[in-house]
Amino acid sequence: MKKHNFSAGPSILPEEVLEKSAKAVLNFDDGLSLIEISHRSKAFIDVMENARSLAIELLGLEGKGYKAIFLQGGANTQFLAVALNLLEKRAGYLNTGTWSDKAIKEARMYQEVVEVASSKEANFNYIPKGYKIPSDLDYFHCTSNNTIFGTQMKEFPSLDIPLVCDMSSDIFSRSLDFSKFDLIYAGAQKNMGPAGTTLVVVKEDILGKVTRQIPSMMDYKVHIGKDSMFNTPPVFAVYTSMLTLEWLKGLGGIEAIEKENFKKSRLMYSEIDLNPLFKGFAATADRSTMNATFSLTDDKLKDTFDGMWKEAGINGLNGHRSVGGYRASMYNALPLGSVEALVEVMSELERKA
Ligand SMILES: *Cc1c(COP(=O)(O)O)cnc(C)c1O
Repeated sequence: MKKHNFSAGPSILPEEVLEKSAKAVLNFDDGLSLIEISHRSKAFIDVMENARSLAIELLGLEGKGYKAIFLQGGANTQFLAVALNLLEKRAGYLNTGTWSDKAIKEARMYQEVVEVASSKEANFNYIPKGYKIPSDLDYFHCTSNNTIFGTQMKEFPSLDIPLVCDMSSDIFSRSLDFSKFDLIYAGAQKNMGPAGTTLVVVKEDILGKVTRQIPSMMDYKVHIGKDSMFNTPPVFAVYTSMLTLEWLKGLGGIEAIEKENFKKSRLMYSEIDLNPLFKGFAATADRSTMNATFSLTDDKLKDTFDGMWKEAGINGLNGHRSVGGYRASMYNALPLGSVEALVEVMSELERKA
């Protein structure tokens, strides 16, 4: 039986995408497997070009000077690539969780980093607001969705300096004016595809301004100049991401999936709020539509509850060790029916207890 997969990442992908990519592993192009053909073959170049243009199209960034590239090394590698490519003197970072914290640590190896605001003192259960961003920074960096803590930025600053955003866990999940951002990066394995590739969408005119030499593999201009084929790309991850983007476009794009995501998160949070056996972790105004973090009000019910959700075919509900409790990750591919199944288990526990 197919599980209700609430895993935080790697995470659920659409069934039809899994079927198509599994087929392509066996026979992609004229009796050859996707993972045994040359990445320089026409068949694969078409995949890469399609994936790149779908990303730009879905984000509404066509004709606005952006380039999409599919890189390796995860979002963690982007923490340093961003600094190498953009940080000349001083950058500002908003610290909203573990991933922001790591991004700050990497950037600090190169130059000065100003932590503009932080919610660390409250174990990152909210998004800081009302902070001032100095105007003399090379860029401002933020994390749109804090996968571990279940908080999500609802507003983004309008700035005269480049705005850089780690969107690993909510890219393609909600409509935003993406042209506000100068650089967006996202590891594929949360909301776009399998692990192994990271999407970078960058406004070309912010590049080439630092004086340092950038190692080729870290240099966005090198990857753009080679159409995202500077070295052998992760062909399976790029192909499967392309299929997911096609699936999303077929559904009606970001606006359509956003409606579904709202339905799922509304149902999830109303159960957390109305059921006296559960309480939410994140500040209400900052709750993520992608990752809902919550715990039991009475820890003695843990074994009963854990047994019940596992019995109901639910997978991946344990919270991250730095928060504890539970985390329901409701990425694009998770059907509403899976949230209904979880909510049913939660109300069943209330009836029993
Ligand atoms: C998972 C995650 C990362 C780390 O991604 P890797 O691809 O494993 O390096 C970074 N940022 C956010 C917001 C994430 O959710």
